[in-house]
Amino acid sequence: MTRTSAPNASCFARARINTHFHTHSRARTVRRASVVAHAETMKIGFLGCGIMGVPMAKNLINAGHEVTVWNRTSDAAKPVVDAGAALAATAAEACAASDVTFVMVSTPEAATAVANAAKDGLSAGKGYVDVSTVDAETSSAIAEIVRSTGAEFLEAPVSGSKKPAEDGALIFLCAGDETLYRRCSEPLETMGKAHFFLGDVGQGAKMKLVVNMIMGSMMTAFAEGLTLSEKCDLDPETLLQVISLGAIASPMFALKGPTMNAGAFPPAFPLKHQQKDMRLAIALADQLRQEMPVAAAANELYKRAARDGCDDEDFSAVIKAVKK
Ligand code: NAP
Repeated sequence: MTRTSAPNASCFARARINTHFHTHSRARTVRRASVVAHAETMKIGFLGCGIMGVPMAKNLINAGHEVTVWNRTSDAAKPVVDAGAALAATAAEACAASDVTFVMVSTPEAATAVANAAKDGLSAGKGYVDVSTVDAETSSAIAEIVRSTGAEFLEAPVSGSKKPAEDGALIFLCAGDETLYRRCSEPLETMGKAHFFLGDVGQGAKMKLVVNMIMGSMMTAFAEGLTLSEKCDLDPETLLQVISLGAIASPMFALKGPTMNAGAFPPAFPLKHQQKDMRLAIALADQLRQEMPVAAAANELYKRAARDGCDDEDFSAVIKAVKK
């Protein structure tokens, strides 16, 4: 396997001493899938079958890994079982059957509950990789639970949403046990287009919160712009075109703009998770006495939209709060 080095030297320059960055082309991922089936098959547990967990687990199966899946509500695991996974009755059973277990659940509370439920299936030689978005304190507590069994721990929250999860194009922000990070390079490459190692437990969680705080603020500014254009009789489709041609063009605006203009919000990234991430990022800034007036204002809009019943809609439904 050949990896390309960081395409942008600043990625390395900004990183701390222990930081590594790996990326690879989509073509290489496709090639890898057939190689894995013969050479590097792993026993992988997967806990959590939501919007993200289902396509991630299916990609592992398609790459030839032997996957054992568990979800709190077993019905939601059906698409993964139909794709070829074994269904475990408990989180611990999935870990016991696997070399490495990935976890993709909703909140810090859920991730902690799952780690406590999984620990009886963990032991020395096994790995536990939590890819949920949580705060650094929660991740450290989970690391303690996992390491107390002798197993290794990696936090690896992902940047990217439902479509990148389906396409195996996520970006993993990893921190924790570097030996486990190295052991996981194949599944990380199957599920993602890039993975970073950022150092001690907590650094991946913090990076993820910073990224999602920026995304959440961008989305509210975009929602305000779309609303203002409509109010002053500018064609919102033309606004999207203008944005797409200039320096503020972004894949997120291109993807979400048309559905927002159409008033459709099928959940790719549920609004309740975006509000959770704003809340956790603001709490992180509080600890560091860092002012974040833009994020704080954006958070108010997510709270308003959540209160108005948009929790399970896409986070772009925040435009409803702007329009109110
Ligand atoms: P989701 O569709 O809401 O799925 C949440 C999952 O968590 C479900 O499997 C759910 O199980 C499980 N869960 C919730 N509470 C639990 C508990 N107390 N014990 C055990 N399991 C519990 O969420 P998602 O969109 O896949 O996101 C998962 C994580 O990835 C979140 O941390 C989110 O912030 C992050 N993330 C999401 C995206 C995205 O675009 N969707 C992108 C990057 C990161 P049940 O089926 O039993 O409810």
